[in-house]
Amino acid sequence: MTPPTRMSRYFLRTLREAPAEAELPGHRLLLRAGLAAPLAAGLYSFTPLGWRAMRRIETLIREEMDAAGAHELRLPALHPLELWEESGRAQAFGGALFRLADRRQRGFVLAPTHEEAVSMLAASHIQSYRELPVTLYQIQQKFRDEPRPRGGLLRLREFGMKDAYSFDAGWESLDRSYLAMFRAYERIFARAGVPVVAVEADSGAIGGKDSQEFIHLNERGEDEALLCPACGYAANAEKAEFRADPPVAADPAPVERVETPGVGTIAALAQFLGIEARQTAKAVFLVADGEPLFVAIRGDLEVNETKLRNLLGAATLEPMDDEAVARAGLVAGSAGPLGLAGVRVVADESVAGAPGLVAGANERGVHLRNLAHGRDWTADAVGDVALARAGLGCPRCAEGRLEARAGMELGHVFKLGARYAETLGVRYLDDAGARHHPVMGCYGIGVDRLLAAVIEANHDEGGIVWPATVAPFDAHVVALGSDRPEVAEALAALEAALEAAGLEALVDDRDESPGAKFADADLLGMPVRLTVSPRALGRGGVELKPRAGGDAVVVPLEEAVARVRETAGG
Ligand SMILES: [Zn+2]
Repeated sequence: MTPPTRMSRYFLRTLREAPAEAELPGHRLLLRAGLAAPLAAGLYSFTPLGWRAMRRIETLIREEMDAAGAHELRLPALHPLELWEESGRAQAFGGALFRLADRRQRGFVLAPTHEEAVSMLAASHIQSYRELPVTLYQIQQKFRDEPRPRGGLLRLREFGMKDAYSFDAGWESLDRSYLAMFRAYERIFARAGVPVVAVEADSGAIGGKDSQEFIHLNERGEDEALLCPACGYAANAEKAEFRADPPVAADPAPVERVETPGVGTIAALAQFLGIEARQTAKAVFLVADGEPLFVAIRGDLEVNETKLRNLLGAATLEPMDDEAVARAGLVAGSAGPLGLAGVRVVADESVAGAPGLVAGANERGVHLRNLAHGRDWTADAVGDVALARAGLGCPRCAEGRLEARAGMELGHVFKLGARYAETLGVRYLDDAGARHHPVMGCYGIGVDRLLAAVIEANHDEGGIVWPATVAPFDAHVVALGSDRPEVAEALAALEAALEAAGLEALVDDRDESPGAKFADADLLGMPVRLTVSPRALGRGGVELKPRAGGDAVVVPLEEAVARVRETAGG
């Protein structure tokens, strides 16, 4: 049993106005309610009240992970750099990886995720198929050198994360472990009062097969999801496929030079020739892992760098500088796939499948008509490297058009496969005594982000409206006129009854006006407000008001405690 927390002795400061840098409503309330305060860009300190909210969220996550059969453990946050070099991820993470050296100048990293560390542990423990499947998780601080930390708790350099890792004897078994985590995530977000959509996602620097993200749709979020209202297809913008508008039919014709003086963009080219953008090919110059790259894509589409990186297996993509452009024989504004030197050529499917398109001749002010992939030029690689966007056709159904929605990514689940097990030597013996590598899954929830999203999804003009499941306290008690003996006596009785019932209460015993106390109760947002005052006592009890809405009513003390217990914990 926890005794009630008295605000006169609590480490808490609420603010009338939010600091100017806070843009999102949830970020403003986080600061105004005194839950957290910035230490530096992307680094926040949590106050006792903020930490209570965080721990309630962690408890909810633990309950669902344990119920799904996962086992909690603890891995170090500091890893030898060698381990990350062995797995290939020191390079894949690039500048986002925090690196440091010990006193002997040996390299270390502050881990952004724990596939390597958990694989090392599994390698020393797992021996037989009888020990599989197993899912392990932890809730721990992670580190990421964000170039632009912002948005309060949304983009941090140090953040809390629940990360889980499953080990299975085969893909079918992994499908079941993955589904168990997927269902646990649905319950976690539902119980925390945060609506989410699950979208197909790219597996990024971590690598792997199936991958889905849980996104809280919110117009101010930084992530973008593409949704089909007709069939329910949902993917994040990096991953989304689409059905391109078909090419304009044309009979094969010989390549033809056409003078295009002063034309330097696709829009200008289409207008000059009186054709549609999808009858042209656009050239994009990049450098992939240091190698010059020419990407040809239909004029009405844009390159998706994530898909392109995946197609090439490249860790980095950068723009090509002017000198390299000239060396390759490319002419900006009139670039095309003919006559290139020392450049790798990639064709998007939109170009590879099209009849003759108009493309640059690599000569200023000149383009070529009827240029056909496979006849006039060939690419070193062909694939879908186009960016989906709102308005394009759905890849799954015939009639749907994609819609774009902004949101916040809160969770991510992956089927990793055997990659880490192979690299780091995790093996098990099957029933015939043969050795195999287990296949892995990994599953993450950003705990700070989830806290931010809970506030974002649960507030009104007065302040936070905590869902009872994650509220820092079960009740907010406002004491008015507590210098009067009958109020002091009733307050003591209420506090004792709440404590005896196992309920946690924040008691406003400060020397403040009733208006200021009620405003703070709304701002702090506990599910139930109980007011002990001479007026309420005169009417036979304490005043009870649910924060989520409904009128204040005066009820006997015992009934007030029972009502709080009904709402608490959800
Ligand atoms: Zn569809």
